[in-house]
Amino acid sequence: MLDMAFVREHAELLQWTAERKGIAVSIRALLERDELRRSLLGEIERLRHERNRTSERIGALVRNGERQEAERLKRQVGETNEKLGELEADLAETERTCRELMLLVPSPVSGDTPNGRSDADNVEIRRVGEPPVFDFAPKDHVELAERLDLLDVPRGVKIAGTRSYVLKGWGCQLHRAVQQLALDVVTRRGFLPLEVPLLARGEALLHTGFFPTGRDQTFALADEDRYLVGTSEVSLVSYYAGEIVDLEEPIRLGAASNCFRSEIGSAGRDVRGLYRVHQFAKVEQVALCAADPLLSERLLQEMLRNAEDILEMLELPYRVVAVCAGDLSQKTHKQYDIETWMPSRQSYGETHSVSNVLDFQARRAGIRYRDADGKLRFAHTLNGTAIATPRILIPLLENHQREDGSVRVPQALRPYLGGVEALRPLT
Ligand code: AMP
Repeated sequence: MLDMAFVREHAELLQWTAERKGIAVSIRALLERDELRRSLLGEIERLRHERNRTSERIGALVRNGERQEAERLKRQVGETNEKLGELEADLAETERTCRELMLLVPSPVSGDTPNGRSDADNVEIRRVGEPPVFDFAPKDHVELAERLDLLDVPRGVKIAGTRSYVLKGWGCQLHRAVQQLALDVVTRRGFLPLEVPLLARGEALLHTGFFPTGRDQTFALADEDRYLVGTSEVSLVSYYAGEIVDLEEPIRLGAASNCFRSEIGSAGRDVRGLYRVHQFAKVEQVALCAADPLLSERLLQEMLRNAEDILEMLELPYRVVAVCAGDLSQKTHKQYDIETWMPSRQSYGETHSVSNVLDFQARRAGIRYRDADGKLRFAHTLNGTAIATPRILIPLLENHQREDGSVRVPQALRPYLGGVEALRPLT
């Protein structure tokens, strides 16, 4: 959510941004509502003042025994009260619609965000590592995982329906190992690990910008105002909702959690294997800092570096892309995606996102700090993937496969897997 003065000053830019981001909101309608809200407030203020003055006069008239005039003025106060009641109801309704519209206004995008319409317009920043060249016919992750007995999709679907899976044995251990590795890396780098609720109130999703626009992506509990989070960012950012925090130094938080997504709108896409599922696990980085764009940009780069270092520890080739305006969510000011090489796709597939949302979430959630002059200001917040699994198991299995169907375990992961150097097929 933005400041109304900012919306007024940047109406055209915000309308353009909303259109680019695919959000149906009329900034003009919002400004008109806000105009009406302010004129109603002015009128209510005027009438209240007039009523108070008339009440004082009635007091004086009663004391002087001028009963007739006092009665006339009392009737006038009654009429004013009636009018005030109507205006106050109008004001409440206008404030409600203003808030509804305001909740749809997007964050402006950064000056260096590419000006495209869809992910096809994202701009590559760098490539790191070389995609492997196999001198045998490589298998895809599903085939590899089945031969290694890591994965059981049919039974996952039997239990939970489409886009479900069961990870077995080394599959289960790999899934946990990559999370622990990533959590250890970000913890060593100053991110305080938290175990957070994955069932959150609607308010937490609203505060973090996943509601109202992303509501259909979220699994809701029947008859309750509680939802399964699609990312622990919801809980990590909401941890400080409504608080005044000390931001002399940025706050860095991390969590390993399951994530739940309805994936509505992706029917028929990525149906094979582990790419797009309803339940996955993610180690997330979240940072809060003073409202200084240079500082939050530095944190964005720091969080991106953490994600890249984890991929380098996993010895995976990847590229970093700057996400274009049309591919950014409502809250996002600037975002990098990391795409990791997936041999079965013969392309890079998205495995990480790191973004700066400036004060968008802090305004909604009421997260403030005192600046050097003691003034209360809204914080900047950032979020980013450290690892997301089982999607990362796709490049991990496919890039490190060998002709005999075994998969080499990267050095950095071995301590998390009892020192094992390779996963080998059963027969
Ligand atoms: P996001 O929180 O949407 O930026 O996603 C962060 C990362 O989570 C993505 O880059 C993927 O690696 C992973 N991810 C997101 N959605 C899914 C999904 N439906 N299935 C598996 N992994 C996902």
